[in-house]
Amino acid sequence: MRVLGIVQGVGFRPWIYNLARRHGLGGFVLNSPRGVFIEVEGPRSAIDAFLAGMLHETPPLVRIADIERVEIPATGETAFVIRESDAKGSAFALVPPDICVCEACLADSRDAANRRFDYPFTNCTNCGPRYSIILDVPYDRSMTTMAEFAMCADCRREYEDPANRRFHAQPNACPICGPRLFLKVSGEVQAPLSAREILTRVAGFLAEGGIVAWKGLAGYQLACDATQPAAVGELRRRKRRSEKPFAVMVADAGVAATLCDVSAAERAVLVSRERPIVLLRRRPGSPLAEAVSPVNPATGVMLPCTPMHDLLFRTLRERWGREAALIMTSGNISEEPIVIENAEAEERLAGIADVFVHHNRRIHTRVDDSVVRVVLGETMLLRRARGYAPQPVFLGRGDAEVLAVGAQQKNTLCLTRAGFALPSQHLGDLENFETLRFFEETLERMKRLFHAQPIAVAHDLHPGYLSTQLALKMEGLRRIAVQHHHAHIASCMAEHRLEGRVIGVAWDGTGLGTDQTIWGGEFLAAGYLSFDRFARLRPVLLPGGDAGVREPWRVARSYLLDALGSVPAGAPWEQMASPERLRIVDTMLQRRVNTIPTSSAGRLFDAVASLIGLRHSVSFEGQAAMMLEAAAQEFLHASHDAPSYEFLLTARHPPEPRELDFRPMIRQMIEDHAARESQARVAARFHATLVAAITALCVKMRGELGLDRVCLSGGCFQNALLLQGSVEALRGEGFQVFSHHEVPANDGGISLGQAAIACEILASDRS
Ligand SMILES: [Zn+2]
Ligand SMILES: [Zn+2]
Repeated sequence: MRVLGIVQGVGFRPWIYNLARRHGLGGFVLNSPRGVFIEVEGPRSAIDAFLAGMLHETPPLVRIADIERVEIPATGETAFVIRESDAKGSAFALVPPDICVCEACLADSRDAANRRFDYPFTNCTNCGPRYSIILDVPYDRSMTTMAEFAMCADCRREYEDPANRRFHAQPNACPICGPRLFLKVSGEVQAPLSAREILTRVAGFLAEGGIVAWKGLAGYQLACDATQPAAVGELRRRKRRSEKPFAVMVADAGVAATLCDVSAAERAVLVSRERPIVLLRRRPGSPLAEAVSPVNPATGVMLPCTPMHDLLFRTLRERWGREAALIMTSGNISEEPIVIENAEAEERLAGIADVFVHHNRRIHTRVDDSVVRVVLGETMLLRRARGYAPQPVFLGRGDAEVLAVGAQQKNTLCLTRAGFALPSQHLGDLENFETLRFFEETLERMKRLFHAQPIAVAHDLHPGYLSTQLALKMEGLRRIAVQHHHAHIASCMAEHRLEGRVIGVAWDGTGLGTDQTIWGGEFLAAGYLSFDRFARLRPVLLPGGDAGVREPWRVARSYLLDALGSVPAGAPWEQMASPERLRIVDTMLQRRVNTIPTSSAGRLFDAVASLIGLRHSVSFEGQAAMMLEAAAQEFLHASHDAPSYEFLLTARHPPEPRELDFRPMIRQMIEDHAARESQARVAARFHATLVAAITALCVKMRGELGLDRVCLSGGCFQNALLLQGSVEALRGEGFQVFSHHEVPANDGGISLGQAAIACEILASDRS
């Protein structure tokens, strides 16, 4: 048998070994660059039982994608053995993500009688670092950053005993032979201290409002006491992060529930082995400082993912006499990549952290913390990184090797290999040199790790994206340009392995259209090879390019002029900006100078937030939309009296797409606002209108095109109200509705769509 899937570094071989022995079979299991090979010999009934066990009793981290089987003559083998890795052949193996410490290892590290008591690097075949420490496949200790630690006799005994939980656990380690923590204060390494002594000192620093940097599972993290406003404010100042929410770490789900509302589904994600940051609704009177997530009722919470974090929280509980809540944010400056090396940390984070907790296990691949949200009881990824990357999406669209370089913001890249799409971890916004370097570093490492040699590169249509520029510079690769929203829909299709054509609702902030205008409120009839733009939001003028994104009031002026012909007198429309700036922008709009038409739904959210006086300028993209959603959620908590406003759908003038015209809604909103209707209710009615409009358009498309599957993609569908409302309304109309679970709905998921489209183009060219 040849087994493909995530079968290396996840306890697959020992499990097969035990399974084969249980059924009295002879043969072997062998890790190879081409997958895991298994030979079994014995009575037919025992082999059948073995096969049934393989499919139904798999260990937690194993993902079997495919099993090839052939029958060969018996050789009289009675013993079952694990053979040495075979390093020859065309190397390809899927690599598991980094996963949190398992219950059994946690118990070891909490047990004063265990030789791993308080040991921060305790792990086994079911848990611990993987992607971040693997240099190459086949996955053996020599191919990881653990190679430099020689196992002690006790560890080796565990490693070689098939009955042991640590049998062939490549990062196996203990306090005698494994990595160690060390503490650096004011540039001085403190005399040898135990992990507990170090974290006791750290507890003291944190109590005094200090900021500590430590090396986590796959990157440095910065921490301070989340209940001390001064400490949180200082971290914001030093990290140059004005309002973007910080994540918080607490000891367990019980403590999380004292700070935030935690549903059963949210609790399940919090304690899952991926251990992402989960966005939760803060409880009234929570002790978290306001500055943790200003003007935002949601807070990102995560639980400890390594024995070190667990030991830290145990120590804090002892020293502080209460449950701690720590800010736990990426060790970086502003939007730069997360720091992984000790020297790099001290250099780059010198102005931020007072104290450093390093360790001497190298992180090979930097992976940030993941961020998720639960909608309709299911996990929705906002940032796909630690715990998820590099988990594959099985495309099954031929074995062409392509590279997709993603978009500009929230960039990820994606390689395809042996029928799998391999989306990278979150890389960031490709606007600074460091992120660009991170992109190139990740591309090189993934190509080497997965032994991929792409023959084509898929990129966005936008010539200004740095990802596009990189793609265009690559020699000898076929270039495939993919429209942004087409890629969004294809990524949703690929996740669900949909064929044929679907209704694609692609709503986001910005993407270049085939007509050189900015799209973002699109209704596409789409397959992998092509799409038709059935309808769009009625375009408005966006004054002043990028400034229009940071200052929602600009697009609000545009919507006002479009809907009313002039801007009404009164608050908040006179207070959006200084009279001088308002006059300049109004003139730009009236004369159509330095403006660009956009059908962006993201900009509509911005405009509405400003129109009702919620927010006129933002410190990060999507902030206005977040506040609008939060206001609407607030209202809907108390009441459901939020009927939709009116909208129009224009008739068809081929080849122009139909237009979804929200001018009637804008006029009604202005009236509501003038009549002192609450911002929260207007926000709720706005969301109801969007849901009604999406549903009406999809019904129209089904009527004309006969399509009844809807894919919802684009950053706007990270808005829980919009996503949940649309899914429920569309299902109510009898549609099959698909949204994202494997990759983010935002631009972080686009590289998967680009890759799927490129594979399909290559496959159709060949046939
Ligand atoms: Zn474990
Ligand atoms: Zn040891």
